[in-house]
Amino acid sequence: MERTLVPPVVATRRSGRAHYYPDVTDAQWADWKWQFRHRLTKLEELEKFLPIPAAERALRADVLRDFRMGITPYYLSLVDADDPADPILRQVAPIAEEYLFRDVGEEDPLGEERYSPVPGITHRYPDRVLMVISNSCAIYCRYCTRKRIMYEDAVPDVEIDRMVEYIAKTPRVRDVIVSGGDPLTYGTKKLESILSKLRAIPHLEIIRIGSRVPVSLPQRIDDELCEMLAKYHPLWINVHFNHPRELTPDAAAACDKLSRAGIPLNNQSVLLKGVNDDVPTMRALCTGLMKMRVRPYYLYQCDQIRGAEHFRTPVSKGIEVIEGLRGHISGLAVPTFVIDAPGGGGKVPVMPQYLLQHDTKNQRVVLRNFQDRLFVYHEPSGRARPIGERSGELEVPAVASPIVESAAPAANAPAPTAVERANGAAPAKASSGTSNGKTNGNGKSNGRSRAADQRVGADGKPVVGKSRWVHRGHSREERVRKANET
Ligand SMILES: *Cc1c(COP(=O)(O)O)cnc(C)c1O
Ligand code: SF4
Repeated sequence: MERTLVPPVVATRRSGRAHYYPDVTDAQWADWKWQFRHRLTKLEELEKFLPIPAAERALRADVLRDFRMGITPYYLSLVDADDPADPILRQVAPIAEEYLFRDVGEEDPLGEERYSPVPGITHRYPDRVLMVISNSCAIYCRYCTRKRIMYEDAVPDVEIDRMVEYIAKTPRVRDVIVSGGDPLTYGTKKLESILSKLRAIPHLEIIRIGSRVPVSLPQRIDDELCEMLAKYHPLWINVHFNHPRELTPDAAAACDKLSRAGIPLNNQSVLLKGVNDDVPTMRALCTGLMKMRVRPYYLYQCDQIRGAEHFRTPVSKGIEVIEGLRGHISGLAVPTFVIDAPGGGGKVPVMPQYLLQHDTKNQRVVLRNFQDRLFVYHEPSGRARPIGERSGELEVPAVASPIVESAAPAANAPAPTAVERANGAAPAKASSGTSNGKTNGNGKSNGRSRAADQRVGADGKPVVGKSRWVHRGHSREERVRKANET
């Protein structure tokens, strides 16, 4: 996906403020209230900028009866008008697929209401609660997990007070996630009235705010807001960037202001088909966030939300993305891929498999690194290890011996997977449950010689031929025995 690595505004692309809003003044553009008031909420407004195919118009209008649209002029300016599949637009504009899948998925896939002691609070984990104080956002993301609340009236003050009371009388809550909707769409005074009530609770240690405003309405992050927020430390903000083209100078300035107010910033992305479901896009996003001093925190599997089926990716895609990040870019830039368990199980981290074998009897572990190389590591065993039992890279050099040659599989046999190599198994053997299906991409001939090593005689023992090959003072036989120990 070439376009993902291109900076937001280039001469050939029809995008940017100059393309969409040539007559708007700097003062208007920088005024978050102007931005908020001029959000596109009707299809007719969007059509003025981006024509909608006639055949799809009715479907898209129907979608908006179900889930409202909101696009700030600023966010629209990031859209490439020449790309119908633009990843920015796709996040906020209704498309035919949303209509087609309007009945697929659930209203409340995470059971947030089931785990709700009072309206607006979800208390799923022992020491922290989610508090939904608003159902208004600067932009409405078509894949939002809380689509269900986005067409309700404003959250009444009395309801917010009841949420605060619940936290006050629940001493085990030490961390609150103030979310919505988007809390930063409130005026500074109103938000302060809520934060000050929370801060008055002695056992509440951490206040976290979840907000997409730095992405969708960065003008909102003004000095007045930052000065107010800084009074309520320790306060953290989780932001929600999904695509490298959202990392604009305006967004960077907003994040910089928040950071200077002493607020640590972490990012939560959702893995979305057609938006960011490939390694180059996620690498550009995560390394770009680091430059803005925003740490990638979570990468979410898209929830089974009604009308968002077209955004969902297979779980293997998330694993592939993380595998393309870990080791390749700074460890600080690698988020944790999580699936929010349906019905309220909470976030479950899902990772590529790097621990290929764990032989607890022999305290031996086989690890795979980011380059798909294998390493043997020995846990403490409380006894002296024989000299042959070395930790280190697991490799069998491509030295041809007569046995190896004669037992080599046909040239068209499948390459062994990493797990098969760790097992020293023949390539054709089914791989174990820990396999991620990867094959040996390093071009070594491990599989060939392993296959030879693994031939089994009538007595069930491996058949090992004579070889002159010696490695680090121990014989081929010893290495074969070692490989078979597991
Ligand atoms: C995500 C979430 C939290 C916070 O989880 P962390 O892993 O601590 O970031 C808390 N409560 C609910 C209901 C959540 O969905
Ligand atoms: S900003 Fe957050 S809460 Fe609002 S629509 Fe987007 S994902 Fe949902």
